[in-house]
Amino acid sequence: MYNPRVGDKVSDLDTPSMIVDLDLMESNIKKLMDKLLPTGVDIRPHLKTTKSAILAQKLAAAGAKGGCVAKLSEAEVIAEKGFDDLLITCEIIGPVKVKRLVALYQKHRKIRIVIDNAAGATAINDALAASGIEEPISVLVDLDVGLHRTGVAAGEPALALARHIGSMKHLKIIGVQGYEGHLQHLHDRADREQQCLASMKTLTETADALRRDGHDIQVVTTGGTGTAEFCATVPGVTELQPGSFIFMDTDYRNAVGRFYGNSLTILSTVVSKQGARAVTIDSGLKSLTTDSGLAECKDPRYTYGVLGDEQGSLVWEEGTPDLDVGDVVEMIPSHIDPTINLHDYYYAYRNGVIEEIWPVDSRGKVQ
Ligand code: PLP
Ligand code: MN
Repeated sequence: MYNPRVGDKVSDLDTPSMIVDLDLMESNIKKLMDKLLPTGVDIRPHLKTTKSAILAQKLAAAGAKGGCVAKLSEAEVIAEKGFDDLLITCEIIGPVKVKRLVALYQKHRKIRIVIDNAAGATAINDALAASGIEEPISVLVDLDVGLHRTGVAAGEPALALARHIGSMKHLKIIGVQGYEGHLQHLHDRADREQQCLASMKTLTETADALRRDGHDIQVVTTGGTGTAEFCATVPGVTELQPGSFIFMDTDYRNAVGRFYGNSLTILSTVVSKQGARAVTIDSGLKSLTTDSGLAECKDPRYTYGVLGDEQGSLVWEEGTPDLDVGDVVEMIPSHIDPTINLHDYYYAYRNGVIEEIWPVDSRGKVQ
């Protein structure tokens, strides 16, 4: 049985393998905390990126307060691993999921949820009432700040929803979530900042309107890797949810620059030579996602192409050193979150030696 261990060399790993440069990752975490914590906001990193309880703990040790997960099933896994200060940032809809939520809340009272519609609120309230759990679950009103994905509209609809939630015995409003996901990857920094501040205005004005209506709004949560620094400057924003900064990807690097480094790569082997300046590597669609463009070789002289599920090509210009069968290369993912979801383990190294191995705990947890 193949069983890589701490202390092995990275060069001894089979491929494809997901490897993490620990120095770079730690520097990304430190940079984020150093930049954002002095503004007074809380950092609740989005764990949809890492899907790892160990990394959640590392982020908490560096100053984060809790974490976000996208889906209920992610919360189940990460909480079971001992990290349960979690905000589930997607709506919990349907009887099966509501039942799972109640079961999770039975064991983990720190779980927080978002709600964007009255029927969803009623269903969760009624299920909690039937469960006999006394303590109301903490709810954030999910507000649409321009992404048009989830979230109630600002103004009267948000007020009406908050009144509805506020009237329910088993739900307790603690805040508002407004995620501006459509802005994260805007390349023009000034445009990204300006649009972000407009979204933050919608968010903080709604939080104030809810307060005037009698709700105890403690948490105003928002932001991702592309916008967190702008959100942090806005009075009234209390919490930020960046995720990708820890590893980055080529899409984010192209959009927001190199302040954070690409700390995660997919180690791949050249398995065939297909011409004078073309080889095939063992990483294809099942190792590297393509929704945000193609992955890049860490050595930019080699250009990647997809050759199907299991393989990809690398080609190069004349004058660049040849790659040959058996050579090992590192590939930088174009979109980090779905790429991680393709792998079982992280192999984290320093000076070429594996220092830690972390499972991708909530891999495949899309429910
Ligand atoms: N918050 C929410 C609700 C998200 O959906 C995401 C990512 O899609 C994030 C935060 C984190 O964003 P990023 O990984 O771009 O930093
Ligand atoms: Mn993403």
